[in-house]
Amino acid sequence: MASKIQADLHIHTNCSDGTFTPREVVERAHGAGLDVIAITDHDSMAGVPEAQQHGDRCGVEVIAGAEISAYHGEQEFHIIGLHLDTVDPDFLQKLDDIRTARRERIFEMVDKLKKMGVELDGQEVVDSADGGSPGRPHVAQALVDHSHVKDISEAFYRYVGDSGPAFVPKRYLKVEDAIAAIHGVGGVSILAHPGVTDRDHYIPLFVEMGLNGLEAYYPIYSREQTAHYLDMAQRMGLLVSGGSDCHGKRKAEIMIGRVRVPGPYVERIAAAAAVASIARLLPRPDGEEERS
Ligand code: AMP
Ligand code: ZN
Ligand code: FE
Ligand code: FE
Repeated sequence: MASKIQADLHIHTNCSDGTFTPREVVERAHGAGLDVIAITDHDSMAGVPEAQQHGDRCGVEVIAGAEISAYHGEQEFHIIGLHLDTVDPDFLQKLDDIRTARRERIFEMVDKLKKMGVELDGQEVVDSADGGSPGRPHVAQALVDHSHVKDISEAFYRYVGDSGPAFVPKRYLKVEDAIAAIHGVGGVSILAHPGVTDRDHYIPLFVEMGLNGLEAYYPIYSREQTAHYLDMAQRMGLLVSGGSDCHGKRKAEIMIGRVRVPGPYVERIAAAAAVASIARLLPRPDGEEERS
């Protein structure tokens, strides 16, 4: 019998730029009737343990994930790692390095704003992320709080949007290195929201680099887009994933559960991660043990 499990495999908490605590995310997922969720903060797994604790209590399976900011050429891509090892020191260090670079980037954006006559305190913006993973939404919120703009949308439109004058790109980790890092901790790598990034022609190259799957379920996709990515995944032998990309109250609507990945896809992701975890423990071809 086909699995009736429903999953939301792309959710942010206040450990990055979401507004809900990990516990609140789990409570809302439970309320929305979800069986499985993945916590996928930007460049952080800090929210995973709290979410898993509460998930154990209310019967929601919480997959350890992260949405890693990566680049290929001039373009930014988001690579979601699922079923990650939350205690591997090298992987944690890699995420920590990205968050350090994110903090430096906040100061660069604040400098650009200053040159335009818009004053913000960079440290205050960094601190508003509470030690988490600060990004443009935190800059946008500070612009609202200090009455430079009327709302978040205006902040993106006028200043920090992808083509805004205060935008600073992230060039921290190459796509192939993000995929390798995910595999290194026994996880599976999923290209986030390809229908938004709109660079499908890179997908075959990323698959050669080891990419395992695509997000075919995403709240702003049309039916045709979902069908397109389901078809592409089937043709290329890729996993299918997706989720709401909930950011709590930072988006006009609370998105948890807005799209639901069907159970069979969720199970295939888990099976692939189990294989990846075993592969991680096997000796390397040159006979050296990967880890003791
Ligand atoms: P960053 O990782 O710092 O580049 O910030 C990217 C995040 O900003 C995305 O994950 C969204 O949460 C948010 N974002 C991007 N564009 C917009 C927009 N036009 N309006 C509101 N939020 C946005
Ligand atoms: Zn975000
Ligand atoms: Fe993203
Ligand atoms: Fe996201």
